[in-house]
Amino acid sequence: MVHTHDHKICINTALIEAERLCNQRGTRFTELRKQILEMVWQGHKAVKAYDLLDQLASKGGSAKPPTVYRALDFLMEEGLVHKIQSLNAYVGCPHPGKNHVSQFLICDGCENVNEVGSIELDHALASASENAKFQVKRQTIELHGLCFECQKRSAD
Ligand SMILES: [Zn+2]
Ligand SMILES: [Zn+2]
Ligand SMILES: [Zn+2]
Repeated sequence: MVHTHDHKICINTALIEAERLCNQRGTRFTELRKQILEMVWQGHKAVKAYDLLDQLASKGGSAKPPTVYRALDFLMEEGLVHKIQSLNAYVGCPHPGKNHVSQFLICDGCENVNEVGSIELDHALASASENAKFQVKRQTIELHGLCFECQKRSAD
């Protein structure tokens, strides 16, 4: 699916939704934050912070690393992007504003990241940690493998 669709729609939807949520919450969707969100959404691959810095610099921007990290922190707090820990990179959230659980399917072929949300898995983990009297601070579920498109391509 991620290989054959009009990605402009993904980008536009993400930007409009981000603007709407920030207005609603009274948080500031500044030009830089918007620019960075748009760059994260240039595809469905996870994007690294230094790639964002390179791109900003090539556009003549003068954003320093801390500025970019702060913008990314903001976007994460607002639920507009997620951090992929195993890649130390960021992806746009396709359904921000909704309370959701996420697990990530990461393709090692095309590097696309697909966000899925299994409530059952979330419940199972919650009760397992509760039984162990373990206080969860951060939950990261990232699966690496090959997406359907890449499986087909490697079978050719
Ligand atoms: Zn897309
Ligand atoms: Zn999400
Ligand atoms: Zn793939």
